[in-house]
Amino acid sequence: MKLVLIGIGQAGGKIVDEFIAYDAATGANVVRGAIAVNTAKADLEGIDHLPRDRRILIGQGRVKGHGVGADNELGAEIAEEDIDEIQGALDGVPVHEVDAFLVVAGLGGGTGSGGAPVIARHLKRIHTEPVYGLGILPGNDEGGIYTLNAARSLKTFVDEVDNLLVFDNDAWRQTGESLKGGYDALNAELVKRFGVLFSAGEIRAGGDVAESVVDSSEIINTLAGGGISSLGYAEVDVEEPERQGLLSRFRGEEISLDATQTTNRITSLVRKATLGRLTLPCDVSGTERALLVAAGPPEYLNRKGIERGRKWLEEQTGSMEVRGGDFPRRGEGTVAALVLLGGVTNVPRVKELQQVAVEAQRNIGEITEESEDRFADLMDSDDELESLF
Ligand code: GDP
Repeated sequence: MKLVLIGIGQAGGKIVDEFIAYDAATGANVVRGAIAVNTAKADLEGIDHLPRDRRILIGQGRVKGHGVGADNELGAEIAEEDIDEIQGALDGVPVHEVDAFLVVAGLGGGTGSGGAPVIARHLKRIHTEPVYGLGILPGNDEGGIYTLNAARSLKTFVDEVDNLLVFDNDAWRQTGESLKGGYDALNAELVKRFGVLFSAGEIRAGGDVAESVVDSSEIINTLAGGGISSLGYAEVDVEEPERQGLLSRFRGEEISLDATQTTNRITSLVRKATLGRLTLPCDVSGTERALLVAAGPPEYLNRKGIERGRKWLEEQTGSMEVRGGDFPRRGEGTVAALVLLGGVTNVPRVKELQQVAVEAQRNIGEITEESEDRFADLMDSDDELESLF
């Protein structure tokens, strides 16, 4: 699936940068255009792979390159005011060649949280291709304002995109590790999952053709119902056969893989991917649509295994629309199952986020009122003192 990536805010920019590195390393050639947008100059400097002319500083007149703090209303205002600058950076992108746009942002901050829904709305207005969001939820330990920002942004963003793919930092935090220190590891896990999803169906030069190809239209159809989506992934190491002409061989011997083993390997990977840690933890029952992608050397991509995995997913999700297919890839030394749950509805984490956000909003209101009263008390001199003018 060929994409245009728009990263906004620090998290958005870093993740888009990581996607570019993944695309180059795997040769998937999925990224057909990419920009990073920010109100903070320093954050744009911290990007490694994206060329400088693809990094767009907005709001210079308002915040002079210093960012918006965690003020997402200001982030939204600035993105709206400078939307022509953002659009200008996308003008050279060959839109006729792309299948979709992906707007990436951390939802707990200011620039990405406020700006991402604005950019998505603009893109939807002018393009017929689907516009997806990739939203990062903050960790619970980041504090009330981040939770409030994320809850408000999530509510706004989901209405402006064709589907919002979600990654929850809180679920992915390593125990004993601060969230900040762990971002690089987190981003690598994130990009591995979304990278496999978007690379599926892209035939590489000299690559194998899938028996039952996962086409970009299957991804689009799985995401077509809108709402929020989550991804599961599991992999195991396998010995890769050498490729010699049309025959695959293990170190010179003719290949002979046990069919029962390859079938079972895939069905067990599908279970692990679905019941293990999802990008957004949720109960898979009540999922509208799902897509199963089996990735690995073609010798291991057993049709029966994929079909069984697909049926099992149908039972688990209760969905009548579960698609499945292969993504042949060599050189990773793994067989993997990727499960896209499109339109999840049973998500305790979102309910929790909303509750904490409502509480934080109430507390902030009360504290502001109280401190206004206290300040008035502090400055009250019983009308004994007069201001100078
Ligand atoms: P912005 O620049 O104002 O949009 O805010 P940031 O992107 O710096 O932060 C917003 C939220 O994104 C934070 O609260 C974190 O939860 C998250 N975040 C920041 N950087 C990263 C990152 O590199 N990876 C991930 N997964 N999350 C991040």
